[in-house]
Amino acid sequence: MLLASEAQTAGAESPCPTTTVSAIPKFERHDEFFVALKNRVDQYFQQTGKSPRDCWQMYVKTCVILCWFFGSYAFLVFGPVSWWTVVPASALLGLAMAAIGFSIQHDGSHRGYSKHSIVNRLAAISLDMLGGSSYYWARKHNVIHHTYPNITGHDDDIELGLLGRLSPHQKHIGIHRLQHFYLWFLYGFIAIKWQFYDDFRDLLRGRIGVHSVVRPRGQELAIFVVGKLFFLVMGVAVPLMLHSWWEVLAVYMGVSFFQGVTLSIVFQMAHCVEEAAFPMPETASGRMASSFAVHQIETTVDFAPDNKLLSWFVGGLNYQIEHHLFPQICHIHYRAISPLVKQTCQEFGVRYNMHRSFRSGLASHYRWLRRMGLAEAQ
Ligand SMILES: [Zn+2]
Repeated sequence: MLLASEAQTAGAESPCPTTTVSAIPKFERHDEFFVALKNRVDQYFQQTGKSPRDCWQMYVKTCVILCWFFGSYAFLVFGPVSWWTVVPASALLGLAMAAIGFSIQHDGSHRGYSKHSIVNRLAAISLDMLGGSSYYWARKHNVIHHTYPNITGHDDDIELGLLGRLSPHQKHIGIHRLQHFYLWFLYGFIAIKWQFYDDFRDLLRGRIGVHSVVRPRGQELAIFVVGKLFFLVMGVAVPLMLHSWWEVLAVYMGVSFFQGVTLSIVFQMAHCVEEAAFPMPETASGRMASSFAVHQIETTVDFAPDNKLLSWFVGGLNYQIEHHLFPQICHIHYRAISPLVKQTCQEFGVRYNMHRSFRSGLASHYRWLRRMGLAEAQ
C-alpha cells in the first residue's frame, strides 16, 4: 500500500512549503495501482541499466536547440531585413523558444534532467533568459498544476478568467459561445503575458490563484531581476540599436505569437480535450474520488505517440500521462515506459486516454472549447 502523500512525492514534487492551500483536495490514500506501476518502471531501469536522468541524448538535444535558438536570434538581429526572411526566421525563433521550454527548462525544473542539482538549476533558469520567471513557473507548474490537474479553482493552468471557459465547473458568460474561434488567436499572447504581467502580478500579490506563494528572496530574487533585465536587453535594447522601433515591435510580437500558440496547444491537447476529466473534491471534506496517480491519468490525454519528430520537439509532452506520473524521469524515456503504464492501467481498470494523431487531439480540443462555450454544457 502506498500513502497518498508518498504517491504525491513519487509523482509531482511534494507541495512547496511556501504554498498554503485552503480546502485542499485530498486524494484516496491507498493506491496499489501506483505501487505496481512504480515497481515495473523501476524494474525497467534495473534490467536495461539505463539511467532515469543524465541521458547523453539530452545533452546533444540541448546543444541542438540552443544553436537553433541563438542562430535564429542572430539572423533576425544582424541578418538582412526583408519580410520573406524575417517571417520564417521569426517562426523559427518562436519555435526554438518553445523547444527550450518543452525540452530543457521543463526537465530541469522537475529535476528530471540530471542527478546534479546545479545542472537542473541551469536548465530551469533557461526560462529566465526567455523573459519568464523560473521561480514562479516552478510553483505554478511543478507544485500547483502537477498536484491538482484539472481541479477547478486549484489548477491555475485552466483559469483564463472571463476570456475562456475550459472546465464545466467554471462560470459561463455569453462571449464563451465564440471561444472555439477566438481563443486560438489569444493563445499567441500567452508568452507576452508571462513576460510582462503574470510574474509581476504574482510577485505583488504573493500568491498564484488561491495558493499563497512566498516572494522570491536573495539569490531567487536576483535571478528574477537579472532574467527580466537580460530579456529586455537581448529582446529589445540590442535589436533597437540596429532596427527601427516598429520593426523590433513587429518581430517581437511575431516571435512571441509563434511561441505562445505552440506552448498553449501542447498544454491544451493534454488536459483540455473531450477525454480528460474535470473532477471536483467533495465540498465538505475535500476528498477526491481517486488516488493521486489515477487522478493524473483521468485528467490527462496522450497524443501522437508514433510521431518521433513531434515527440522530440515537444520534449516528450505528447506522453503527458507518463510525465504526470513520473515527472522526475527524463522525457527521453517516456516512449519506453508508456507500454508499462498502459498495461498496468488495463490490469487495474484505469482508462488510459490517447489520441493516435496530433490532428485528432487538436480536433478534440476544438470540440471541447465549443462544448464549454455552451451555457448548459457540463
Ligand atoms: Zn511538468
